This record gives sequence, structure tokens and C-alpha cells, in this order.
Amino acid sequence: MKQKPDCANCHVETAKRICRTEDGIHPKYCPTVAKKDLIERSIEEYRKKDVLHLAYNASLQEAQGYGNREKGYERVVPIKPRILEVAEFAHKMGFKKLGIAFCIGLRKEAKTVAKFFTDNSFEVVSVVCKVGRVPKETIGIKDDEKISIGNFESMCNPILQAMILNSESTDLNILLGLCVGHDTLFLKYAESPCTVLAVKDRVLGHNPLAAVYNIDSYYRYLKRLSY
Ligand code: SF4
Repeated sequence: MKQKPDCANCHVETAKRICRTEDGIHPKYCPTVAKKDLIERSIEEYRKKDVLHLAYNASLQEAQGYGNREKGYERVVPIKPRILEVAEFAHKMGFKKLGIAFCIGLRKEAKTVAKFFTDNSFEVVSVVCKVGRVPKETIGIKDDEKISIGNFESMCNPILQAMILNSESTDLNILLGLCVGHDTLFLKYAESPCTVLAVKDRVLGHNPLAAVYNIDSYYRYLKRLSY
């Protein structure tokens, strides 16, 4: 039977994995060994000039996120918050015009983020999720399926957010706190490259990993969901 990729469950010590070292070892389901054809196809993609430009700068940005590299891998120290990395990456890429697709719940943050980028010489276009004031009924939502039952509610409109940023020919779109699923639609319709500054987690201060870090304690109920 064909083994499906399962890197998340790889039992090989990180430094000894074949995806990290030439004579490394691997489990049966290892895609580094089983997916040679796709590895080749991915390398072909990186030969495209625009893709190579993105990949090269993304990799530069990754390494430059650490200090002390000259002292060896064991001594490296992370030194840059993500918002700085986004600015540096955009600068490296030669991007001038940034689109911010944000959630109305993060409007204060959006204002600060937009200022950060304009203060740092970028042109910024921003679009809120509720743009267009399209009623939720348009997508079949019934009154008792709204947040504010009995009242008019604008739907989040990530397709319109993407279309507006597409029409502005943004160089890079930055997602800021879009809801689960709305981010999916935005990414499906956006034409420019995208990155995520923050994802929405209404309970955990937009840090979904807090539930992951605590899944064996306070969030153990997440291991037994019943649908
Ligand atoms: S590529 Fe292979 S060795 Fe690397 S994490 Fe996945 S299964 Fe493990």
C-alpha cells in the first residue's frame, strides 16, 4: 500500500533527518525519498525568474531573522518581529505598494500597521472585511445564523477585498486578522503575492498556538471534539 506523507509524525531526530542531511535517515512514508518526481518539478518552478526572485529573498529574510550566525548554529538568536520581516522582505523584493486586507475587529491594529508601512516609505492601500455592505442574506445566512440576531449584518467580503486590491495592482498583500475561511477566499481570489501578518483567534489574542501549547492541560477538550 502506498504510504502517505506524514512529516508531522516523523520519528527521526531532527538533525539526522534525510531532509536535512545527505546521509540522513527517514521513515517509510518519507516524501524526500518517495516523491523524487515532485522534488524535480518543484526545482523546475524555482528556475522561473520571478519565482526565483521570491524564493531567494524569502530565504535571505529567513536567515537574516537570526543574529549571531557567525558564532555557529547553537548560538543563533532570533532578532526580528514579523512586522519588521514583512517590511524587509517587501523592500528586498522591490515592492512599493502594499495592500492590507484586515478584519473590522482589528481596525485599531490596521491603522497602526498602515502607519508603520507608510512611515517606512511604502504606499499602502487597505480594505476592511465588511467593505461593500453586502447583507449576509446574499450568501444564504438566515437571521438566527447572524452574530447580531434580528439586525442587518454586512457579510465579510474577502472576494471584494481581493478584487479591490487586485484593481489597485498591489505588489504584496498583507492579511491582518481575517477569519478562518474568509482568509481562504481572500487567498483564492488575490492576484498578487500574499503574506500573513496575523491570523484571527478571538479567544487567544490572535495567537492560535496558545491552544496548541496547552493542549495537554487547559485545552485538552480539543482532543475529544464531537461533531
Ligand atoms: S521528509 Fe522524511 S525525514 Fe524529513 S521530516 Fe518528512 S518523513 Fe521525516
